Amino acid sequence: MLYRKMPRIKEELSILGFGCMRLPTRNKEVGEIDEPTAARMMNTAIDNGVNYIDTARPYHGGKSEPFVGRALKGLRDKVQLATKLPSWLIAKKEDLDFHLNEQLEQLQTDHIDFYLLHALSSSRWENLLKFDVMDFMEKARAAGKIRYICFSFHDGIDTFKKIVDAYPWDMCQIQFNFLDEYYQAGTEGLKYARGKDIGVVVMEPLKGGTISIPVPEDCAATARAAGYAKPTLTDLGLRWVWNHAEVGLLLSGMSAPDQMDQNVESAAKGVCDALTPKELELVKAAKDLFASRVRVSCTACAYCMPCPKGVEIPQCFRNLNDAALSEKWEAQKVSYNYLLSDSRGGGKASACVECGACETQCPQHIPIREKLKEVVAAFETN
Ligand code: SF4
Ligand code: SF4
Repeated sequence: MLYRKMPRIKEELSILGFGCMRLPTRNKEVGEIDEPTAARMMNTAIDNGVNYIDTARPYHGGKSEPFVGRALKGLRDKVQLATKLPSWLIAKKEDLDFHLNEQLEQLQTDHIDFYLLHALSSSRWENLLKFDVMDFMEKARAAGKIRYICFSFHDGIDTFKKIVDAYPWDMCQIQFNFLDEYYQAGTEGLKYARGKDIGVVVMEPLKGGTISIPVPEDCAATARAAGYAKPTLTDLGLRWVWNHAEVGLLLSGMSAPDQMDQNVESAAKGVCDALTPKELELVKAAKDLFASRVRVSCTACAYCMPCPKGVEIPQCFRNLNDAALSEKWEAQKVSYNYLLSDSRGGGKASACVECGACETQCPQHIPIREKLKEVVAAFETN
């Protein structure tokens, strides 16, 4: 494992962080974590040198933090623990203490190392300021309940700069991958934060798995020329993030033990400025291909879930994007109709009644209702 140092952080952190948002589950249920498998993965990650664990209140329908608390028994002092204040649930000052205290209890710890204001946007930031949130954070730090004051972000670059300038943050967490260089904070935000000595943690390095596809046929020749022998673009996508010296670490939400093994292997080569010109050409070829084909910029974060009508929104978009990228529409239609069949719990796009509840939660601002109609047209009509 390789480690990097962020300006205001005492500890060296592993460049690969263990994200607890997409843990293995049972029966496709986001709230049913397969705890034995997930705990084994966390143990193996720590054995391989991972020392940063990231969770949050909404992950796995509220089950992620209690799971992390159980899984870290006896391991707590080996890792830095990050979790987040659910900024959208703060309606009065007391809510701030309520969430932090409950998080400490569920995580079975007396302190959280990295405490982030979660998924800030302009309106959420303005709302938190009404409740003196930075005063609350500083008092929590003085009381020893949290150590580093941080935020995670999903909005435009101007809002990002405004929030960065508002406080001497210890760290910020941004979405960054080779498809999102110019989206939300992007490369400009990455450099802006580091220019102010604020450490940067990267989330969605593979855009929710969008980048983790088999090397597309259109890129095969470029991949061969680059000596890229991996079956998928995952390794390239991760090393592209680490190629940036400004990145402290990236979070990977691993859903199966083999994904963790692959990520650990990639992390051994995650040096900055290490991609060769030929590999950068491969990145460009892949970007051009994605740009011309991807239909929905969904990161599969599941913030939009659960849908009151049971629509499996991330899976719908996954099938749509996979079909568009691979151009194998019939195969994806079969996959979609199998995965979301009634006997497997349903969840097809046609169940949407257009209530719009999901769209208010989506950090990517996707017009979910419109895009679900594309899914219906692609997979549910003859
Ligand atoms: S708009 Fe459709 S997909 Fe979204 S929450 Fe409502 S029913 Fe579910
Ligand atoms: S539609 Fe939006 S909220 Fe739902 S999984 Fe995709 S990116 Fe996340």
